[in-house]
Amino acid sequence: MPLAIAVHGGAGNIPDSLRAEHAAGIEAALDAGQQVLQQGGSALEAVIAATQVLEALPAFNAGYGSVLNANGEVETDAGLMDGRTLDIGAVAAVQGVRYPIRAAEAVLHTPHVLFAKGDAVQIASAAGVELCDPASLITPRRLEDWRTGNNDFKVDSGLASGPADTVGAVALDSQGNLAAATSTGGMSGKPPGRIGDSPLPGGGFYADNSAGACSTTGWGETIARVLMARRAIEGLELGLTAQEAAARAVRLLGARIDGGEGGLILVAPDGQVAASFNSDRMTHAWWSSRDDKRHIVA
Ligand code: ASP
Repeated sequence: MPLAIAVHGGAGNIPDSLRAEHAAGIEAALDAGQQVLQQGGSALEAVIAATQVLEALPAFNAGYGSVLNANGEVETDAGLMDGRTLDIGAVAAVQGVRYPIRAAEAVLHTPHVLFAKGDAVQIASAAGVELCDPASLITPRRLEDWRTGNNDFKVDSGLASGPADTVGAVALDSQGNLAAATSTGGMSGKPPGRIGDSPLPGGGFYADNSAGACSTTGWGETIARVLMARRAIEGLELGLTAQEAAARAVRLLGARIDGGEGGLILVAPDGQVAASFNSDRMTHAWWSSRDDKRHIVA
């Protein structure tokens, strides 16, 4: 059974000045996930480990380094899915959780799918997930962006208004299990309480052992409408290669919705890995035991 992992660090207008930091971060996340898989860990553990690495890094829009909402606060969303059981854990608009993907993991172990705001934080806290002062997740760069109004979210212009840097991972383990994870601070300048596609199953992520696993990034208001993650997996079900299925879902986003913009990573049950995006850039990386090569694109 092949092993495979792919990670992304967001679709959007990633400035040249951040490319080296993006490349280093995405490689560290790939390392973390690959190690879990090679040591016999599960796909679920691998995508959590990879996502958590990116949540800790200030270059990315997740956990520490998240963009600020219109009130100058960090509000994060994250989603996680186990392709073996179809269990889902997601959190939305949470504050003061250092690694939001760990809060999503806590929800995955409940009978429920998605919790929001303070109730999500309480569930995370009861499960032993690390909480923090919400202000400690704000980086100087994001604060400066907020103060100057740089990169603010405009509903009619989406990603064109700035970088995205959301993170995610998909993996296939030695038991043939698939998993997907996505974590984000959302869109900069978003109205408080706005929740994008990232914590929505089928939109920001999806995983099903019988079909594939996908994590998406981009303008959430457009991705959610076409269920882009589920669409990519649908392509695999139709018999397309992973690359064809990924490209088809991104094409659909652009064709079906005016200004639809984003990208995705996809892994198939046979270990094929693919990425596709229609934004300027999408930082991503992947490794598969099929060819044992690491690919880093930043
Ligand atoms: N999809 C995220 C959102 O709309 C943003 C991103 O991927 O960069 O919240």
